Amino acid sequence: MIIVLKPGSKEDVVRELCDRIAKRGLEPLHLPGSERVVLGAIGDERLLADLQLESHPDVESVKPILSPYKLVSRELQSHDTVVRLGERAIGAGAFAILAGPCAIESHEQLDATARAVREAGGTGLRGGAFKPRTSPYAFQGTGREGLSILSRVSKEVGLPSVTEVLDPRDVDVVVDHADMLQIGARNMQNFELLRAVGRAGRPVLLKRGMSARLEELLLAAEYIVAAGNPNVVLCERGIRTFETATRNTLDLAAVPYLKQRSHLPVLVDPSHATGLRELVGPMVRAAAAAGADGVIVEIHPDPSRALSDGRQSLDLQTFARLVRDLRPLLAALGKEVA
Ligand code: PEP
Ligand code: MN
Repeated sequence: MIIVLKPGSKEDVVRELCDRIAKRGLEPLHLPGSERVVLGAIGDERLLADLQLESHPDVESVKPILSPYKLVSRELQSHDTVVRLGERAIGAGAFAILAGPCAIESHEQLDATARAVREAGGTGLRGGAFKPRTSPYAFQGTGREGLSILSRVSKEVGLPSVTEVLDPRDVDVVVDHADMLQIGARNMQNFELLRAVGRAGRPVLLKRGMSARLEELLLAAEYIVAAGNPNVVLCERGIRTFETATRNTLDLAAVPYLKQRSHLPVLVDPSHATGLRELVGPMVRAAAAAGADGVIVEIHPDPSRALSDGRQSLDLQTFARLVRDLRPLLAALGKEVA
């Protein structure tokens, strides 16, 4: 519920109303604006019915939040959330380009990749240490050793890093080694993991589950924000449909849909969405045109030898060309690389 107070409402009124909301078991939010003080009440709004807040002398209006997600909704916060990633920002109007290998394989591989990302002017370095693989017999990632390589390369090359965390028990070690925590598609509704990254105080990249509706994605983001972490970036990475020509079907309409209903930044992952490297460039451009706040792309010094997702990975030269050719399009959209 959103409660708008009359101009000039005093601090003690704000406190009194927040106390009354909290006593009913809802979370009170104080959202001071330039002209009006706005309060939020997050939880079961029916419990506030008999307080008759609309007839309180200092209350101008009371409005229910109609969407099932509250904290992440535009109804509650009309301005865009900006998520800081190292010294860069996602969601501030620029276009973020996160790139790197699907899996961290060695220092040499990640170092060469990171230098290419930096040279191209990319925003951040991705790389998986804990890999969620469909088959238990497939390469499962280099784990903690991969994390150490990531933190070393990220510092040496001067790019902030993002890596996936699969297990709530690994959140602390991943926080020690990376700037941003990725929740993968397979874990979008792992609610314990969402709560754990919500408590971690690090930005989170939340990927859409492969069969998840957008409302479910936003409710998953709500778990993280409700646990105390407002720094969530949503990621559309393709969904399962009847089409098998591409690995998944990129739901580009998700971008404006999410941006209209939520204040959180939205990235697109054209690599997992298509599974085919020759479709990555066109989908990066489409993502920019659709209003995405950036992309996350898989690249590798030698995709033919990649231990995972080689078919969708760009080589380093192709990636450099992609970023170069993207710049005029971004300029036409009034953006630049973050
Ligand atoms: C990944 O980013 O390497 C990955 C496994 O992505 P997703 O969770 O979207 O499949
Ligand atoms: Mn991958």
